Amino acid sequence: MSQAEESSYKKCPCGSGKPFQYCCEPIVSGQKKAPTAEALMRSRYTAFAMGAIDYLINTTAPEKRGEDDAEILADQVKYTNWTGLTILDKNLGGRNDHEGMVEFEAQFETDDQNGTLYEKSNFRRENEQWLYVDGDVELRTS
Ligand SMILES: [Zn+2]
Repeated sequence: MSQAEESSYKKCPCGSGKPFQYCCEPIVSGQKKAPTAEALMRSRYTAFAMGAIDYLINTTAPEKRGEDDAEILADQVKYTNWTGLTILDKNLGGRNDHEGMVEFEAQFETDDQNGTLYEKSNFRRENEQWLYVDGDVELRTS
């Protein structure tokens, strides 16, 4: 691929190196379901980066949704700039699995600090839809 071609499309915010339109965009916009737990995790990172709050709520396990989620998420996306994602490890979460774990590190910036969110997230698949269940979260700020 030439330099010109490469710059004519936008790379996906999730850091996969793929064009946005072939990576998280169809998933976040609802044209396609995330095939794996990792794909769902990446699409949720992208949704955080883009402020796609409805998508974040819709891909959270129903029993883990809270009444104030929309408000809390709106604040988070307003004040946080996500600058990078690294997948560290994963377990299950494949096309034929019903559960999966993804361990990742996400870099962020706010007005007054830079930080890293480190998380081991648990996912489950229900009716062909991967959902975020919960995670062990560690925040490191500088
Ligand atoms: Zn992506």
